[in-house]
Amino acid sequence: MPGSETKLGIFPLIITLPPLAMSSPIRVRFAPSPTGFLHVGGARTALFNWLFARHRGGTFILRIEDTDKARNTPEATQAIYDGLRWLGLEWDEGPYFQSEREAIYVRRFEQLRAAGHLYEDAGAWRFRFRREVVEVDDLICGRIAFDFAQADIHPDMTIRRPDGSWIFHFVNVVDDLDMRITHVIRGEDHLSNTPKHIQLYRALGAEPPRFAHIPLILNSDGTKMSKRDQGAAVGGYITGGYVPEAVRNFLCLLGWSPKDGSEKMDLEEIMRRFDLAAIHRKSAHFDLAKCDWLNAQYIQAMPMERYRELTRPYLERAGIADADASVLALEKMKVTHLSEVPDRVSFFFTEDYAFDSIAVEKTLRKTGALDRLAQLAESYRTLDAWDAAALEARLKELAAAQGCKPAEFIHPARVAVSGRGVGPSLYHMLEVLGKERVLARIAQARGRFSSS
Ligand code: GLU
Repeated sequence: MPGSETKLGIFPLIITLPPLAMSSPIRVRFAPSPTGFLHVGGARTALFNWLFARHRGGTFILRIEDTDKARNTPEATQAIYDGLRWLGLEWDEGPYFQSEREAIYVRRFEQLRAAGHLYEDAGAWRFRFRREVVEVDDLICGRIAFDFAQADIHPDMTIRRPDGSWIFHFVNVVDDLDMRITHVIRGEDHLSNTPKHIQLYRALGAEPPRFAHIPLILNSDGTKMSKRDQGAAVGGYITGGYVPEAVRNFLCLLGWSPKDGSEKMDLEEIMRRFDLAAIHRKSAHFDLAKCDWLNAQYIQAMPMERYRELTRPYLERAGIADADASVLALEKMKVTHLSEVPDRVSFFFTEDYAFDSIAVEKTLRKTGALDRLAQLAESYRTLDAWDAAALEARLKELAAAQGCKPAEFIHPARVAVSGRGVGPSLYHMLEVLGKERVLARIAQARGRFSSS
């Protein structure tokens, strides 16, 4: 830790404090390049940085690495903001844009040049590596030695192109230095860049930060996850009926798990338990089914108010302005994706609901079904307490009196009032629909299917 020796010398008592108290404040960053969309791998990198900062009382910085003018788009930058905000990963500092930091790069470039670390080669500027072994002491991957004495394997690197533009390695290191980043937490694909970065730090007269390279994300078949794979884009979760907390929980488990193997954990718990040292060394396997499972768990557990708020945009898009909590509650325990909700509840919002032909065939077209519906309606008409328990008791009494199974009434009633063969519990559905609508719907269905 830089500076700790001097502190120790001046305040010997500090030795009794835990190491955390002696270290400089934690500063981490998420440094995406705004090309294409925000990938789950990027979101996970952001999340691990954010968690580390929150766990250790540090600062989380957003830096947009937009030096590649040809490939950057404003939409991609917007997708980064949207994705981070949706996941609840607010940054404490930034966003900084590399495109606005030219003066800083020029100054550092001059520093390197004056110290004799650079040479010109066909208009480009190259950084001269020290021909020695460089050891990366990674918090996740451990110690790895790279032998820069082998110039054929590690040729000197270009840091500035002939047109004056900067190469990633240079601006990345200058920014981390300038922003006083203490821990670089990023994807394992950058591990092989790290000894080059360490060489740059040293040439700039600085101690490198700590590095933590997080494992790759593989598909379930072991291939590297690509942009085209299902579940790759964070935007797909935002529009696809996912709950941010569930996706955040899912992303956490891509390469990290607490010792007891817990899976569903709320943010407080994750923040408390998250630790870089516990990140797995081996690749993470992407399993969208687990995300779906977590999503359903979060939906089941969330309070009705939040459920209503999250389902509102989906319902509005389907032309349902406001759904009553009692309607939403009927299917809440069965929903995997919020996007299913409009279809599941649509028949509550129109008297012109569609009838599923297979369900009609199997129930309403059965001999005696329409007569039984008439009997049920007659019996329900005199029912005063219109609640699920009373509705159930009344239907069962009727079935017993008629000498048939309750199912002979239940199935036709369900199809008559909802048009479908499956749905919420019948009695709760009838309760929420209310007496008037139930009786009207039964009459409507009898009229519709009696003649034809
Ligand atoms: N812009 C680089 C990337 O998106 C940043 C790498 C890093 O975090 O150092 O891969």
